[in-house]
Amino acid sequence: YTHNELEQWDKDYVWHPFTQMQTYRQTNPLIIERGKGSYLYDTEGKAYLDGYASLWVNVHGHSDPELNEALKEQIDKVAHSTLLGSANVPSILLAKKLAEITPGSLSKVFYSDTGAASVEIALKIAYQYWKNKDATRYAKKNKFISLDEAYHGDTVGAVSVGGMDLYHRIFRPLLFQRIGSPAPYSYRMEEIGDEEAVKDYCLAALEERLQQQTEEVAGVIVESLVQGATGIHTHPVGFLKGVADLCKKYNVLLICDEVAVGFGRTGTMFACEQEDVVPDLLCLGKGITGGYMPLAATITNDTIFNAFLGEREEHKTFYHGHTYTGNQLACSVALKNIELMEERDLVASVSHKAANLKATLETLYELPIVGDIRQRGLMIGIEIVKNKNTKETFTVTEGVISQIIETARQKGLIIRELGSVITMMPVLAMSEQELQKMVGITYESIQEVYETMVV
Ligand code: PLP
Repeated sequence: YTHNELEQWDKDYVWHPFTQMQTYRQTNPLIIERGKGSYLYDTEGKAYLDGYASLWVNVHGHSDPELNEALKEQIDKVAHSTLLGSANVPSILLAKKLAEITPGSLSKVFYSDTGAASVEIALKIAYQYWKNKDATRYAKKNKFISLDEAYHGDTVGAVSVGGMDLYHRIFRPLLFQRIGSPAPYSYRMEEIGDEEAVKDYCLAALEERLQQQTEEVAGVIVESLVQGATGIHTHPVGFLKGVADLCKKYNVLLICDEVAVGFGRTGTMFACEQEDVVPDLLCLGKGITGGYMPLAATITNDTIFNAFLGEREEHKTFYHGHTYTGNQLACSVALKNIELMEERDLVASVSHKAANLKATLETLYELPIVGDIRQRGLMIGIEIVKNKNTKETFTVTEGVISQIIETARQKGLIIRELGSVITMMPVLAMSEQELQKMVGITYESIQEVYETMVV
């Protein structure tokens, strides 16, 4: 095949996610052929620094020899056998490892294949937990509280607890009702006060909802520390701890969605560790296999798991499962990914590199259209505004953000936009020099696009 043929077939046959296909067909798509370290290469051999970690998943870099080897070793044994009625070696070893590295008494691992499924499973476990515990008293406990502007994935249950209206508006009639609670977005909540005041305001709002509907709430679901897909909304320090304390006070389950932030992204293995929070259910995905295979996990504690044991078999079985649950290839590469993270001291290096990058990132404030810079570890959002005082954003049709992304691509950098926010989620093993290059190209791209606007 030639590059041109691939481009044509892509347009003819592939329906891309979250993509306006009419518009996509008019573009010049980037077709990736291979990757090495922090770089991806297109079919014409051009190199791109992967500042998006291939949708926030890549940990050690592309085509890591040791991860490749782990996959090859497993594929020579067996690619897949089911967890329904039998077990397999890598899924057992990985579950044991996850139990060891996740905080507190989290120790029971339910596998799935995507982040959205891990959320879906957490919601179903939480709901059934209360039923199993006391069917009469808790029959009413069928509601979840989630934050406004939350993103938990695209299956119907995950969308139901999502708060990003832009993504989910069309499907509203299909969804169950969530109880929404305000999310801390300090940059745009200045009428409330500083970060601390915003935190208190949001926690007070959550408490009000818990007070009003204690009997009906099964759980609260929250993205630990950062709401990612909304545009990297970093939460004030202490917010997650406050949410956890309220869940305890009102006896509802806490579900931490760490699909995006888990596995070192924010500078600790799991983001909730930074606030000494141990959720009742932890959702993991994305980085779990280092960016190699689709795998996700919902992890819970003995108290919840034990509510599914007992004689009333028909009520206590958790009726949920997917064909590829606990897939051997995915579990073996995930295990190797975690072992390598430990061997290479990767989490500490993320934290170190992130601290060193802060000053360089702040130079972006020199640009007249950079309104806010948000960073937690190697999770970075640059909010682009028309005017720093009014904080007015550009419209999609003005195309400013997409031009910045396209300019960066021409310069050999992959980053992406989320609304009016440019996001950088680099490969976690990216070197300090490459990280500087990523921010440097972003700076130049914003500047160039700004200059064309002024002229
Ligand atoms: N939860 C969070 C916090 C996410 O950021 C995402 C994806 O971006 C998901 C869930 C959904 O994960 P997936 O796309 O693997 O279904």
